[in-house]
Amino acid sequence: MGAGIFRDLSLHDTSCLLIDKKDFSSQTSQSSSKMLHGGIRYLENFDFKLIREALHEKNLWLKLAPHLCYSQTFILPIYNDSKWPLWMTRFGLALYDFLSGYENIGHEIISKRKLLKYIPGIKAPELKGGGIYHDAVMDDAKITLEVIFDALKNKSCQALNYVEFKSFENKGDHNLVIIRDTLTGEEKEIKVGELIFALGPFTDQLLGKQKNLNWQKILLPSKGSHLWIDKKALPIKYPVVLNTHDDRIIFVIPQENAVLVGTTEVSVETDMFDVRPSRKEIDYLLHNLKIYFPGYPLDKSSILSAFSGIRPLVKGDSDDLGKTARSEKTYQPYHNVHVIAGGKYTTFRVMGQGISRIIVERKNRSYNNKLTESTLKRSLLIPAFKPLPLNSELIFKIVEQEKVRTFEDLVYRRIGVESKKHWNKELVEGKSFDDFFLPLVEKLQGKIKITREDVLNYYP
Ligand SMILES: Cc1cc2nc3c(=O)[nH]c(=O)nc-3n(C[C@H](O)[C@H](O)[C@H](O)COP(=O)(O)OP(=O)(O)OC[C@H]3O[C@@H](n4cnc5c(N)ncnc54)[C@H](O)[C@@H]3O)c2cc1C
Repeated sequence: MGAGIFRDLSLHDTSCLLIDKKDFSSQTSQSSSKMLHGGIRYLENFDFKLIREALHEKNLWLKLAPHLCYSQTFILPIYNDSKWPLWMTRFGLALYDFLSGYENIGHEIISKRKLLKYIPGIKAPELKGGGIYHDAVMDDAKITLEVIFDALKNKSCQALNYVEFKSFENKGDHNLVIIRDTLTGEEKEIKVGELIFALGPFTDQLLGKQKNLNWQKILLPSKGSHLWIDKKALPIKYPVVLNTHDDRIIFVIPQENAVLVGTTEVSVETDMFDVRPSRKEIDYLLHNLKIYFPGYPLDKSSILSAFSGIRPLVKGDSDDLGKTARSEKTYQPYHNVHVIAGGKYTTFRVMGQGISRIIVERKNRSYNNKLTESTLKRSLLIPAFKPLPLNSELIFKIVEQEKVRTFEDLVYRRIGVESKKHWNKELVEGKSFDDFFLPLVEKLQGKIKITREDVLNYYP
């Protein structure tokens, strides 16, 4: 979300510094279900405003950044004991299309026979038929990076990764902020006019430590985990939306070489950086996958990798994590200190507009909430969804041009390899992950943080 506000300010020619304690997009924003969507599930909570806004944003990004997201057909199978019978599904999907202002490709209700043609091997007993609707699949990490790089076209804007916010002192017309480079340990005091905290799930942890804020917790953080399943083990063509027996939704979304399966919903209180899935979450996802796809030989060996993120849910009327609203909230503890948390990835462009407006207008400029409806002007060297053949020349170019500071930044977010099992040998003349990267370690030292162990132990 911070990246969205950063771009908005940059396009309004407002000088701005973005800092992140870790790599950009390395936390929640690379751990989503990778959908730009209205959220079919929120129909149940009557969150029509959020769904309408999110569907509008989804359809906008399909036009603005077609290289980072694509429209996708989703299949919703309905069984005898499904929470939504077919008539309700028909009504819900019609409402979903209506809320998109009919910009969505229209829904369809299909028979059992047709559904089994779309998804051969799905559990057939008690299947009644299903619904078809359209949302979008995105590369979450790459969208954030491209949004930041677009903002950097304005030379008065800067972005620093691995630089953490430590503390601040409000001095009335400005704030004195202590920041620290987490890789070098170097600390600095900087003077800033307006201060914005867009910390996602880390909001309460950081702001609770600020002595001058008297911050009361606002979040109900909820961990969600995903599996990447080998496409050879589950060669389905269309995403499937499963309504599980414990009344949850699991998305099964085939992509280029792997199938994304998620998610779980577990409350968390402990450290939230770099969270990993628990054994229980992995078993839960695999168990449900096996129930609904009995026609495929799925077991632990089908898992390529797994990842987790923490939903920054803002407390509402319900303690039920599934029912907690996905909309964002803003706070202004000082006239020039702003906090924003909650929301969905899909609506990142519009969520911070209230804060951007205040800041831009304070500079006596007019605010235009349509400025961000423009295309992103700097594509990453390795495009989303279409991996390029790699060679050392390209690696050095990425390191130089794309704010890479660690080996993980390079491999996970700039190249897009989530574990060694995702490595595509064909793109590097048959070389294994280690054989490709080990010879580069010495040459990259001094440019990024890298050791032989980083290569050997990379999410094996
Ligand atoms: C499992 C799961 C699935 C989801 N699926 C979807 C989906 O399919 N579609 C959708 O629209 N939304 C989805 N979401 C929601 C969406 O991912 C989040 O709402 C969004 O990514 C939150 O972004 P953020 O910028 O608020 O948080 P983050 O991406 O976590 O960014 C906060 C940043 O603050 C930084 N930070 C923390 N402390 C400091 C400090 N002291 N100094 C400097 N920086 C600091 C962190 O390093 C981090 O990078 C999902 C979320 C989860 C968890």
